Parts: sequence; C-alpha cells; structure tokens
Amino acid sequence: MIFAIAVALTAGVLAFVFLVRPQDLPPEEPPPPGAHLEERKAILYDNLRDLNFEYSTGKLSDEDYAKAKATLQAELERVQAELERVLAQAGASGKAVRAVPAQKPASEAGAGTACPHCGAKFDRPLKFCGECGRPMAGGAS
Ligand SMILES: [Zn+2]
Repeated sequence: MIFAIAVALTAGVLAFVFLVRPQDLPPEEPPPPGAHLEERKAILYDNLRDLNFEYSTGKLSDEDYAKAKATLQAELERVQAELERVLAQAGASGKAVRAVPAQKPASEAGAGTACPHCGAKFDRPLKFCGECGRPMAGGAS
C-alpha cells in the first residue's frame, strides 16, 4: 500500500516536471538592435580604463601605452560607427520604438501645471492658479 502511494507520488512529480517544459515558458525577448555592440563598447571602455590605470602605475612604457590606446580607440570608433549604422537601420525600418521616449502624460511635464507665481503644482493645465488665483503662464487653452 505504501509502495503504491510512493509510486503515485513519484508519477505525480514526474508529470509535473514534464508538464512544465522549457518550451512552454514565454520566449525570451530578442535583444534590442545594437545590444552586442553596446556591450563591446562597454568592454572597450573598461579596457581603456585598465590601460590608463596600468600606465598610471608605471607598468607601461609611454610607447606601449600610446600604441595600446590608439588600438582601443580605433576599435571604439569602429564599434561606435557600426552601432550608429545599426540603430539608423533599425530606426528606418520602424523597429527602434525603444529609441523614442514613451509619451509622458500631459500632467507630467507640461507648462502650466506649476504656477509661475507661487509654485503650486496641479495635475492638469489650468488657466488660473488654484492657490493664488493668478493666471498660469503658458497654460493650455
Ligand atoms: Zn499660484
């Protein structure tokens, strides 16, 4: 009897394990365009920092330092150009929605939400300040 229960439990656990398969999980989001280039850039900046540090500790001769730095900077320029190309391409095809900042609600940044006279802030644009009653400059009509 106990054996039967154990078998049933094991079967249940196995069923659970096999039911939740990796392919059932939501797919990973594709990386944004140029993500690998951003990464490359970060690494190059790291290398430059390390190089500067080593130079400052006197481990490198002026010549080695200049040579290594020129190599890194050339690579950086190349990656930067490639990155701009990729982003421009993504933008042209309308995929770089990411680059466009999300629209803020008007209440966030609009002129007329903060009174220029007393500084009171309001959720929406007003013609007249609710605190001091003076007209709000640049208020939405
Ligand atoms: Zn006011």
